Amino acid sequence: MALKYKRILLKLSGEALAGDQKFGLDYDTVYRICASVKKCVELGAEIAIVVGGGNFWRGRSSGQMDRTRADHMGMLATVINALALADALEAQKVDVRVQTAIAMQQIAEPYIRNRAVRHLEKGRVVIFGCGTGNPFFSTDTTSSLRAAEIDADIIFKATLVDGVYDSDPNKNPDAVRYDRLSFSEILNKELTVMDMTAASMCKDNHIPILVFSLDDPDNIVRAVQGEEIGTLVQ
Ligand code: UDP
Repeated sequence: MALKYKRILLKLSGEALAGDQKFGLDYDTVYRICASVKKCVELGAEIAIVVGGGNFWRGRSSGQMDRTRADHMGMLATVINALALADALEAQKVDVRVQTAIAMQQIAEPYIRNRAVRHLEKGRVVIFGCGTGNPFFSTDTTSSLRAAEIDADIIFKATLVDGVYDSDPNKNPDAVRYDRLSFSEILNKELTVMDMTAASMCKDNHIPILVFSLDDPDNIVRAVQGEEIGTLVQ
């Protein structure tokens, strides 16, 4: 089967790794997501993953803590998730490298763009931990930054919702899902696809975003093959 996209930046939220418990890691869930990533690699896709940390910690929800320190903690949370994903991929015989934006050489490579691209060309999955390495940013912004750096064809934002709606589908039963949207529409209507910094970076660098649900992790495989799922932002 032909590939619609060759080089993909897959953004996984921390929550997507928590399973029903909504906190921490559910290894079965992680394993199933990685099984779908493996299928994409076998089809010839190059997969780079940016993983969030919200299943452990979010800097912006830390209450009275100093925000910079709280964000440092959030970035460390992303590394826990990155290592879990790496483990589940290796367990399924997929070559994988973790690169972190904050050096922790005993457990991961430092982020080096050319090296990341080389790994992808060799068929290895690359997982980016620690976000951008800077406080006050998100892993959504990290996705747009890394996607631009590695020349990704598209960002797959795999979430708990099956696309972008005109209102919150959990609160409004009449909410309508968009199949396609332009960046101007999401910025003007303030639709929550990604945070504004991330969305405007994608707009400036012409990187499309496909938002779809991870309920069935094989949606990643369907998306790689160009099946019409979720919402495409272009
Ligand atoms: N974070 C950060 N800089 C970055 C990326 C992430 O400081 O470049 C911190 C921030 O505290 C954030 C946390 O890491 O709340 C986890 O990332 P995020 O909230 O994006 O995770 P997700 O919601 O996708 O699970």
